[in-house]
Amino acid sequence: MDISYILNELGEDRSAYFNAVAPPIFQTSNFACKTVAEMRFALEHEAEVDFYTRGNNPTVDMLEKKLAALEGTEHAIAFGSGIAAVTAAVISRVKAGDHVVCVKKPYTWTNKLMNHFLPRFGVEVTMVDGADPQNFSQAMQENTVLIYLESPNSFTFELQDIAAITAMAKERGITTVIDNSFASPLFQNPAAMGVDLVVHSATKYIGGHSDVMGGVVCGSREMINQIFETEYMTLGAVLSPNDAWLLLRGLRTLPVRMERIAQTTRQVVAYLQQRHEVEEIIWPFLPSHPQYHLAKKQMRNNTGQFTIRLRTDHIEEVDRFCDSLQHFLMAASWGGHESLIYPAAASYKSGNYKSALPFTLVRFYIGLEDPEYLIRDLEQAFGKMRG
Ligand SMILES: *Cc1c(COP(=O)(O)O)cnc(C)c1O
Repeated sequence: MDISYILNELGEDRSAYFNAVAPPIFQTSNFACKTVAEMRFALEHEAEVDFYTRGNNPTVDMLEKKLAALEGTEHAIAFGSGIAAVTAAVISRVKAGDHVVCVKKPYTWTNKLMNHFLPRFGVEVTMVDGADPQNFSQAMQENTVLIYLESPNSFTFELQDIAAITAMAKERGITTVIDNSFASPLFQNPAAMGVDLVVHSATKYIGGHSDVMGGVVCGSREMINQIFETEYMTLGAVLSPNDAWLLLRGLRTLPVRMERIAQTTRQVVAYLQQRHEVEEIIWPFLPSHPQYHLAKKQMRNNTGQFTIRLRTDHIEEVDRFCDSLQHFLMAASWGGHESLIYPAAASYKSGNYKSALPFTLVRFYIGLEDPEYLIRDLEQAFGKMRG
């Protein structure tokens, strides 16, 4: 299916709403039935019909259709945040006594789900270094039902060989779930590599403007309907129609944003490679990166995140460099119009798991500004770094 068709037409029925180009926001909790027979039908087919917005809503449905098509899956289900989507996808596949193999260093709250939440309900989790697919097969047990991937992962961007891991999982009837937020649905499609459930934090690239939160799980109709029947309806972490509309608007410009971000990021990385203050750039798209070939194989293009290791022994120099940046905002998240930094030094003494990272690491996200504008900002901040 053409990306242009998906983003501009699929799931939209303009004649049903006065030929409006922008879809309406169906800001309603309830949908009325005309007859008992109609209501009987609605109750029996709640996964398919609009009956109650903690279930289906036409604005949200439109978004789900587009996201499923972008990921090449039969169906998708939207949530009020990325982590709600991650949690629903994972818990829909496990019960007490089951075992999960999860890639090491996933997104912070996924880590919490795996290591603090699931064990409370009798689900055992083994975390493995994802660089070698054999680590997954070695960690598999009789009771392993799920493999969880995040490729590339959140701060240091290690990749997993998605096709190799899903092939092993399929042999043993194990479900695979991947967090694909890093790559966006344009630059990596894990379902084509055999993954069962593909999750996104739509808050990031899909929204693209840092003004909305959302999440989605894409997969087979059977698996998505199963999530609908239990996790979705019970946990109630639904996406509001208004937020679905903002995400639909974000999707319209996704291809131009992603191209621009990819291009600017390459320029900024090329600049940083020449700076003596930068000891290392952690980015799978540099030919010197050990997983460069895997990145080229699995992903269509680079996105805007990379991490630099500053050449210093002094946390004060890291602070000074970061504090001196005027146009990069210091914040969590990524995927919006604005460039960001996230210094590992910020959690250096806080005792959270990321303090295991050296304080010299600074994660970057490159947004939609002009490359020269960003490079000038970096230049002046490096000038102030040594004090
Ligand atoms: C942000 C993020 C999440 C969580 O998404 P929210 O929309 O913030 O709930 C999950 N995974 C990854 C990789 C993320 O970056």
